[in-house]
Amino acid sequence: MPFIVAIDGPSGTGKGTVTSYLAKKLDLMYLDTGATYRCVTLKLLKENVSFDDKEKIKEILKNISIEFKKNKVFLDGEDVSLEIRKNPVNDNVAKVAELQEVRNSLVDLQRKMSENKNVILEGRDIGTNVFPNADVKFYLDASQEERIKRRLKQNKEKGIETSEEEVRQNIKARDESEKTRKLNPLKQAEDAIYVDTTNLSIKEVENKLYKIIKKKKHDAKWIERGYIQTKNTIFKRARRAIVKGVLASLYHIAFRVKKTGLENLESDEGFIICANHINYLDAAAIVLLNNKKIRFIAKSDLFRFPIISFLGHTFDVIPIKRGKNDLASIKLCLKALKNNEILGIFPEGTRKGLEKQVKIKNGAVFIAEKAKVKIVPAGIGGTFKPFSKVYVNYGKPIDIMQYKTDDPNWIDNASQAIMEQIIMLTNKKD
Ligand code: C5P
Repeated sequence: MPFIVAIDGPSGTGKGTVTSYLAKKLDLMYLDTGATYRCVTLKLLKENVSFDDKEKIKEILKNISIEFKKNKVFLDGEDVSLEIRKNPVNDNVAKVAELQEVRNSLVDLQRKMSENKNVILEGRDIGTNVFPNADVKFYLDASQEERIKRRLKQNKEKGIETSEEEVRQNIKARDESEKTRKLNPLKQAEDAIYVDTTNLSIKEVENKLYKIIKKKKHDAKWIERGYIQTKNTIFKRARRAIVKGVLASLYHIAFRVKKTGLENLESDEGFIICANHINYLDAAAIVLLNNKKIRFIAKSDLFRFPIISFLGHTFDVIPIKRGKNDLASIKLCLKALKNNEILGIFPEGTRKGLEKQVKIKNGAVFIAEKAKVKIVPAGIGGTFKPFSKVYVNYGKPIDIMQYKTDDPNWIDNASQAIMEQIIMLTNKKD
């Protein structure tokens, strides 16, 4: 799985310097997406193309060649590294970056250039648009005055002559256009880490980001391992039996468990158990205290802890990336159900989801319909305080097809109906 780092933020926040340093240090491919917009701008200016001439722009985009080689930018084979940083381009690039044809074509190009690579990209819409599923996202910011100062210094170092007033006008105009434009405006992605660099040196920013990415890279390796399905060898089955035996004994010491409705699990075909999620230990009550093998679906992030990764592999837990369309995970679920295995899913998606009033996730019904299997609701009750009672009540298998209608929201409605059955089962105490 490729590893993707997204760095967004306005001009003059040090994105370029920081990104190029991190790319080297972390062995990632560096992609300066701003340079791609600058190249198109340069070409349109050189060929005197009006920014309103959509047809001509489309034609130019079809034939343009933009390449990055050894820290240099090549436009149609010519080194334009310096030219694209100069005034005519500076003054026009924001306008060009607002054009739909240009954005579509360059976003495609940026994705293609990054394909199957470990990559770090800097720009304005990387975390929100180009790679919304990036592994790590940063939003670098700094006060406008500080950014003007930095850009002036940078220009001087590169031998580009500009006055302070020119830089100020340019940064102001670009800020305004980038933040207010309709298409992919500059804004912080919800899951991006915000870094205010106003009072930080470049070294401090680099070190801060380096540490975070390094940790995420390490975590990503463990998370990816979660998706590797190890074979059910005799050794693995023995390991599972031993671990299950030990943990089940501990569970029985810690809690007095009462189970009802076990007959509802008697099927030779695959099915899904859907339960409420009130405590970290509730899935264990289903997995450990059962003669059958039940494979829970758990958020992939948990696999970053080596001990959980070990337990996850022992019990063939299926990881899922939260809030993302995790096709790899869905495929594993469908394959397991096809093999007549039993899956466990928490439709709340998070602990105490009902209390937090989260929207019930519809993944279980979605998978059940695709795999044509039933859903067994399970209500778990108890405080999970040491030596207290824990209840696990299984209900009758539900054929979700009874909820299927022409209503495009039927999956949401069915998920809600199943959650109501689960809640009823949590109230059954004797
Ligand atoms: O990063 P740089 O200043 O070189 O970007 C030049 C311009 O390209 C920006 O001012 C912005 O208008 C546009 N851009 C964009 N989306 C990106 C990167 C740059 O719209 N991902």
